Amino acid sequence: MMLMLIESRPIKLTTRTGVSVDRTLPHKNLKTIGAWCFVDHFGPTKQTDGMVVASHPHTGLQTATWLFEGEIEHRDSIGTIQMIHPGQLNLMTAGAGISHSELSIASTEHLHAVQLWIALPKESLDIAPAFEHLDQLPTLEATGLKAKVLIGEFQGVSSPATAFTPILGVELRLEPGTHTIPLKSDFEHGLLLVAGNAEIEGQEIEVSSLFYSQSGPESVLIESKTGATLMLIGGEPFGEKIVMWWNFIGRTHQDIALAREQWNQRDARFGEFEDRIGGWIPAPDLPNVTLQPR
Ligand code: MN
Repeated sequence: MMLMLIESRPIKLTTRTGVSVDRTLPHKNLKTIGAWCFVDHFGPTKQTDGMVVASHPHTGLQTATWLFEGEIEHRDSIGTIQMIHPGQLNLMTAGAGISHSELSIASTEHLHAVQLWIALPKESLDIAPAFEHLDQLPTLEATGLKAKVLIGEFQGVSSPATAFTPILGVELRLEPGTHTIPLKSDFEHGLLLVAGNAEIEGQEIEVSSLFYSQSGPESVLIESKTGATLMLIGGEPFGEKIVMWWNFIGRTHQDIALAREQWNQRDARFGEFEDRIGGWIPAPDLPNVTLQPR
């Protein structure tokens, strides 16, 4: 059984003003956890240092936005305008191509959120883009534990969110004490500490760090002195190599180069919308090497 602790690295995103994001996935030693391929944690920060992400594209993935504090307005090229609040899920399926913007609204004091990406399997890369907002998610309560199921199934409780591969995503709120969290033995899992303190399988973990467990175990032991909020993500090991560059996921260098070219030429593939920020984020230059599937 392989366990790994991934410390987060701060990323100052050119596409996001004011906010430094703590990233754990992808990591040089770990590309995916199930189909989860990107884990960013940001805040808590003052809302005035919030999130202003102008129009930018995606392909080949789903973005899952989950808030602990604050509010963010999402707009996209299929006509969605959706405010998101803590406890709700915004799930955008890029499929063949979509563009969107995210703007934190300065009406509440703090902003604290995660953004997670889910890679689409090969057969779903070309599907039409879609957007889901789920304001009521199934909750499970046990002694000292409250779980909200964002996607997939946890302990017999299923989310209605659309998933393309066997995965799960759960917000766990733990009271102080020792907790045995059940896992699916055919899934690999990650636990991101969002707030509070925790020791996972006897290992102390910092806020924004990600604890990884290969498939096999049927539970994980978490001890918390002060209580903790964690995101549990998991899935069947993703059976494909992917190319992930900037905001695009594909299978080959050509997939990425084409998406980049089409975005920068404002091709209809990515649609059009009014982003209320007045920006448009061009794709950077490709590196001078052929991108390799990993
Ligand atoms: Mn985005």
